[in-house]
Amino acid sequence: MKQKAYIGIDMGGTAIKGGLVSPNGKLIRCHWIPVSAPRSKKKTVQEVIAFINVLARSTPKPGAIGLGWPATVNIALSGKEIVTIIKRKFGLPVFLENDASCFTLSEALIGSGKDFPVVLGITLGTGVGSGLVINKQIYQGRKSAPEFGHTTIDHQGPRCSCGNRGCLEAYLGKTGMAKMARRFHLKPADGLTLYQAARKGNRRALKLWNEFGKLLGIGLVNALNCFEPNVIVIGGGVSKAWPFFSASMRKEMDRRSFHNSCPIKLSRLENSGIIGATLMARQNFDKFRE
Ligand SMILES: [Zn+2]
Repeated sequence: MKQKAYIGIDMGGTAIKGGLVSPNGKLIRCHWIPVSAPRSKKKTVQEVIAFINVLARSTPKPGAIGLGWPATVNIALSGKEIVTIIKRKFGLPVFLENDASCFTLSEALIGSGKDFPVVLGITLGTGVGSGLVINKQIYQGRKSAPEFGHTTIDHQGPRCSCGNRGCLEAYLGKTGMAKMARRFHLKPADGLTLYQAARKGNRRALKLWNEFGKLLGIGLVNALNCFEPNVIVIGGGVSKAWPFFSASMRKEMDRRSFHNSCPIKLSRLENSGIIGATLMARQNFDKFRE
């Protein structure tokens, strides 16, 4: 049977990214649009449909659509709802998965985790996403595990968007970082601005990233103690600041973990969310045809 191309959509907190991946795994075309939050259900549906419209008209013709969708806490539309809408509109098989799981699958199949059986992926962006891939297959638990961004690192900590207190994401997500910036006597800013400040040698920003690494290290030890992955791969826009947080992260992990050291690698793939969504669609499409 002739191999198909796949459409991959990566729905993020600040942008929708999408692309068409050829039968041999090459990204043929991709584009993205910024989106603002909070946004309505209607607007989100319109944005996603307009996006797929452009890609569905491309050559070679896509055989299926993979959707990387964030956890429902930050979005007005559930993944299940959007799948129904897209299936009806385009008449193609649509497969849905958590966006961080798609990222982790691409890392486990073709990225920094490709030589390892158990890969834990962490995405640092608007939120803190995580995925677990075991022997090239996404581990989902009953629905969308793991959610390390929503594990507690301080039982009296700040309120998180999920309703819990003191989650890792409540410190390292967008809102948490703006608060952290104030604590370090910096103007509230996003990760990119704080990264740029550190690059310019701003001492307060450097201290902030040191603290960021420490908190991330605490979260990663929780993950390590639960799953003992063979490798942890870190990606997402905020991972750019790796040179400023990786040392304190590693130090904190060495201090707390009783497991043997686990390699922690930075994602080197471009567009791993889009590619991961297509790899996930391909895996599911193959099962669907068997
Ligand atoms: Zn939470």
